[in-house]
Amino acid sequence: MKQTGDLFLVKKINKSIVLDTIRARSPISRAKVSESTGLNKTTVSSLVNELIDEHLVHEMGPGESSGGRKPLMLLFNDQAGYAIGIDVRIDSVSAVLTDLKGAIKDRCFFKLSSAEPQHVSSIIARSVRELSARAPESPYGVVGVGVGVPGIVDEQGSVLFAPNLHWSNVPLQQMLMDELQLPVVIDNEANAGAVGEHKFGAVQDTQNLLYISVSHGIGTGIIMGGHLYRGSSGFAGEAGHFSIKLDGADCSCGNKGCWELYASENALLSAASSLESVQALTGHGPVTLEELIGLAEQGDPDILEIMNSAGHHLGIGISNLINLFNPERVIIGNRIALTEPWIAKSLYDTVKERSLSFHYARVSLEISRLHLDSGVLGAASFALQNFFAKTQISL
Ligand SMILES: [Zn+2]
Repeated sequence: MKQTGDLFLVKKINKSIVLDTIRARSPISRAKVSESTGLNKTTVSSLVNELIDEHLVHEMGPGESSGGRKPLMLLFNDQAGYAIGIDVRIDSVSAVLTDLKGAIKDRCFFKLSSAEPQHVSSIIARSVRELSARAPESPYGVVGVGVGVPGIVDEQGSVLFAPNLHWSNVPLQQMLMDELQLPVVIDNEANAGAVGEHKFGAVQDTQNLLYISVSHGIGTGIIMGGHLYRGSSGFAGEAGHFSIKLDGADCSCGNKGCWELYASENALLSAASSLESVQALTGHGPVTLEELIGLAEQGDPDILEIMNSAGHHLGIGISNLINLFNPERVIIGNRIALTEPWIAKSLYDTVKERSLSFHYARVSLEISRLHLDSGVLGAASFALQNFFAKTQISL
């Protein structure tokens, strides 16, 4: 019995190797799959037939022949199912539907009327239902949901602490799985953003990358040696709560002088709220980043100064991270990317001045080209990873 179990396991592993090869190198012939996996042609043929029956692979017309009969080419069927990636912010939820390769097919966006866990969870569920209803017909349908949240998430998908949402111990994964009856993966939004940039960004072969997610707070996703670095409990990357001012202002995390108090969207909004030009615009109500950008476009000197200062403070924290991690690339993403024309100069100048020259010489620093999509793409890719891992185990 033991031997039978092992043989079954070997078959499952071989099948997942064949599928991974076809996913990565499609279109590819059976002979090439055999050559690159080291599995014999009969085994590859039989596993490919099973994958075709399961709709994960299909055949297309003959490819180039290296002599003799032209081979039929195998294609990964990226439309066999869909994943949903979700980015939770303190005031909104964005969601995308992707195919099995992670290409965005549809999207939706909802404003949050409160950050109460029940309300946020119901809006996430609504996004999933809406995108599922609009998804094209497919053999597997929606295979899972990935959600990035601005907080510390444990292995069970509970949000242990999310100071900007005022959440502690919210069992979000369980709440959503109960509601949706779908596999759900919850992760930190900066981790999702780092994976989104690593898999779908402008340069995808980077081994050592830091993704700095700057919106209401600051989070950091760390890719080292090609893999997401999570730390011993999965909580790595809370760089927004680095102390950068010894006796600075109180932070919602309980500490003082945290980096995000001086360099985030909240920092910009709070510095701008007392300005006359802003009060005249908002009638003493809350100001939005979009309104500040409107004033910056008109050349409002006070707003330009505030943007300049945020860029400088962002640069201070990023210099510390560059000195610590020696990354090849640092990508600054999320909502702060909208302010690029006004923060970039002070940000880049500060990083150049404050990083160690050896570290600075090798690093490429940029604002995300995926704009606000890094997080949703990374979240969708967590759902896809989960689907492929489970599919292969249950074969
Ligand atoms: Zn803090």
